[in-house]
Amino acid sequence: MSSTAARKKIVVIGSSNTDMVIRTPAIPRPGETVLGGEFFMAPGGKGANQAVAAARAGGDVHFIARVGDDFFGRQSLDGFIRDGIHIDRLIRDKAAPSGVALIIVGPDGENSIAVASGANARLSVEDVTQAKPVITSADIVLMQLESPLETVREAAKIASSAGVPVVLNPAPARALGDDILRRVAYLTPNETEAEILTGITLIQKSDLAKAADVLLAKGVKAVLITLGAKGVFVATAEKKEVVAAFKVIPVDTTAAGDAFNGALAVALAEGRPLLKAARFANAAAALATTRMGAQPSLAIRTEIENLLA
Ligand code: ADP
Repeated sequence: MSSTAARKKIVVIGSSNTDMVIRTPAIPRPGETVLGGEFFMAPGGKGANQAVAAARAGGDVHFIARVGDDFFGRQSLDGFIRDGIHIDRLIRDKAAPSGVALIIVGPDGENSIAVASGANARLSVEDVTQAKPVITSADIVLMQLESPLETVREAAKIASSAGVPVVLNPAPARALGDDILRRVAYLTPNETEAEILTGITLIQKSDLAKAADVLLAKGVKAVLITLGAKGVFVATAEKKEVVAAFKVIPVDTTAAGDAFNGALAVALAEGRPLLKAARFANAAAALATTRMGAQPSLAIRTEIENLLA
């Protein structure tokens, strides 16, 4: 697959936030004020991060989302346009503000996050129904769980009924009904999410296979459980194996999972076999850990290919 091949159409449906991050010497307790922090602001939100990750990894990305009709929404839109993402299905909502995440990062990388979903909570069944032509003509659809569940369910139904594979990154963690899971081709939980989806505590390697089997039995075609610095456990009915992570020196693992998912969607849409697609995604995710922030840290295709080579 060369970089000159026709770009595949990736439809991402999900959230867009502005991350306001303060790195502090200590995470403040209730009632406490901690001075001496360092502030930075960057576009984030799992949907937006994955849309940007997919675009930089070489996809022709359409992003279905809602932002507010405000400063933060405009900032995010400018970023999407710079990354060549189609935003004709991105709604600028006059009735709700853009989503915001307030993130406090302590000295050891530990964090404390509060999210005001704003317009993201209003991404509706009707929004995806109206975007049906975009969804059914996609090569792959990529979603997360920062949007209302009924919206995710409807989009999965529209896509799978049209034979378009659905990649679902079930983050943030929550339980999911079989009605959604049976419409998902590729499910990409991290370990915590896999535990919540299956009720199986992941202690040893055989637990990964057990958890994957529970999800495969619900109709998912492939389960990819991301394992942080260890890589990803890839499971289908036929085969289960770990695809190792790339060795890098991480400075900030924010959006590693988003980088993984965006790149995975591109690789699968391009027809890479599952294990090769997982390796491509590992490379994109490793690169994201070597840089600060969410969207600013996401790698472009040539960087991913250089790491793979
Ligand atoms: P999340 O960030 O969603 O919890 P993970 O921590 O499992 O997800 O990370 C997602 C992917 O990012 C991993 O599968 C791996 O490819 C990559 N990754 C994460 N941490 C590292 C690391 N320290 N070194 C290399 N790759 C990493």
